[in-house]
Amino acid sequence: MTTFRRLLGFLRPHRRELWGSLAFAWAAMGMTVLIPWLIGEAVNAIEQGSEEEMLPYVLMILGAAVLRLGLTIVRRIVAGKVSLAVEFDLREKIYGHLQRLELGFFDTQQTGQLMSRATVDLGAIRFFLGYGLIFFSQSLLTVVLAGTVMFFLNPWLALIALLPAPLVVLTAIRYSKQSRPAMQEVQQRIAELTAEAEENVTGIRVVKAFAQEDYQFVRFQAAVSRLFDQSIKSTRIQAFFSPLIGALPQIGTALVLLLGGISVINGNMNIGEFTAFYTYMILLASPLRMVGMALGMAQRAVAAGNRLFEILDRDPEIVSPENASPLPDGAGSVSLKSVSLRYSADTPEALSTIDLEVDAGTRLGIVGPSGSGKTSLVSLIARLYDPSEGSVSIDGADLRSIDVTTLRSQTAYVSEDSFLFGDTVANNIAYARADASEEEVRTAARRAQADQFIKELANGYETVVGERGLTLSGGQRQRVAIARALLADPRILILDDATSSLDATTEREIRSGLAEVMEGRTTFVIGHRLSTISLADEIVLMEAGRIVDRGSHSDLLSRSPLYGSLITDDRETEPVFIDEEVEVLR
Ligand code: ADP
Ligand code: MG
Repeated sequence: MTTFRRLLGFLRPHRRELWGSLAFAWAAMGMTVLIPWLIGEAVNAIEQGSEEEMLPYVLMILGAAVLRLGLTIVRRIVAGKVSLAVEFDLREKIYGHLQRLELGFFDTQQTGQLMSRATVDLGAIRFFLGYGLIFFSQSLLTVVLAGTVMFFLNPWLALIALLPAPLVVLTAIRYSKQSRPAMQEVQQRIAELTAEAEENVTGIRVVKAFAQEDYQFVRFQAAVSRLFDQSIKSTRIQAFFSPLIGALPQIGTALVLLLGGISVINGNMNIGEFTAFYTYMILLASPLRMVGMALGMAQRAVAAGNRLFEILDRDPEIVSPENASPLPDGAGSVSLKSVSLRYSADTPEALSTIDLEVDAGTRLGIVGPSGSGKTSLVSLIARLYDPSEGSVSIDGADLRSIDVTTLRSQTAYVSEDSFLFGDTVANNIAYARADASEEEVRTAARRAQADQFIKELANGYETVVGERGLTLSGGQRQRVAIARALLADPRILILDDATSSLDATTEREIRSGLAEVMEGRTTFVIGHRLSTISLADEIVLMEAGRIVDRGSHSDLLSRSPLYGSLITDDRETEPVFIDEEVEVLR
């Protein structure tokens, strides 16, 4: 199926409105074509000096103009609705599809590019489907009908008058193809400039601290001149094409005046006919231009469609199989069998033949140098990625065979850098469980040691945080994220460097909460502080994508120099912490 036909498919749900607006457009066009003929008849009546004959034509012209006005207004409303409805459908389709795509897809995409597809390309398609098609059919019909009337009035003159018409259409196509992209480039430059300015303001501390004001200014100037150059380019295109398209039909008009004028003088044509003809010439200039512009729009829409369909045609890789059963009941035992993971064909394995059995309720610590595969390993447990080889199962069920949603509802993942949405603290905590009561939210926050500072915020739990609100400190964000995970009450809890941005005091405070929270769940704790790792029953040591050792903290400490070098003993700096405390917590 060609891209063009697929695009037309988006109009199918709105075909009634589409046909409606086409009908209105054609009727309005009928009025447009009728008026010059009426003018010609009126002029003939003037010529004959008959007021009674002239008057009805004046009234008819007035009536036709009013009717056209009404039809055009309705047509615009209906067409506008079609255009917006198509945009709505497309947005929903693209956004829904993006959400279903697996994490691996986003690893390979540039955010800016995805966004531009979702906005610029979508705009091109909606503009063509909503307006372009109607303009095209309306303009083409005007040209054909007016042309026919002209041929009917005077075939030779019509032929000569319409000689420049193809030239107008071709020029308009080129104009439409060049000017829009140039204008979009201008928009792009403006976006870059805005980003640059924003960075200067948000990063002002660093700028000042390193005395880089001049450097920043030069960068900003460069962005300004890029915008300037592109704007000039866009202006040039418009400066050249727009008047040219306007001027070309004048050639035809001049020819009509010359040859038609001679015909009238020689008495081969009456003045009314000549006036009608001449008015048709003027009338045709805009539809001819529109035909060309609409063809250009169609070409752009097809190009945009190709890019969008590239995304839409990409099937999500991580999906629940048909008739997938939910995650079976169980306490959360995890098993990895000869698991390897490769993110893409041209990168080395991030995990190599991992075998790992974790009993339900175990608190497993994961320690390893950065890049050794800790995050990759835990990502597999929530099925954020599928292993390239081997299998991962929870409570005896292979993750590929069970429903992804039930799996994810039983796994909670807190990462090193937790994302908060631009929403209230309460909503951020209740993110995975919108039905949670206020009390449940507070309990979760208390266990994550977040309740205290949240209560001290200006609006307490209703304070808006994230991009659109208050900026929390790294440690505060982290505690909100932990509360979010706790509220989900998962069978499996993953803390990926979750406590690394907390200061030692807060970490100590939160630790008793965490110990409580880990009760009865299988927990994976990634971290390098002794106080964090001490919460684990057992520790695996990773190096270069492999598990190289497994044992208790003291075992590993005594036999592995690597392990010893990775763990930071935060007890000396924080004398309050003592071994017995850990024992009590256990
Ligand atoms: P750790 O959490 O132990 O620091 P990771 O699991 O993040 O290690 O990374 C293991 C290896 O996989 C590294 O070499 C890293 O560059 C690579 N890697 C991690 N995530 C991705 C990804 N999304 N795409 C490609 N490579 C990745
Ligand atoms: Mg990591």
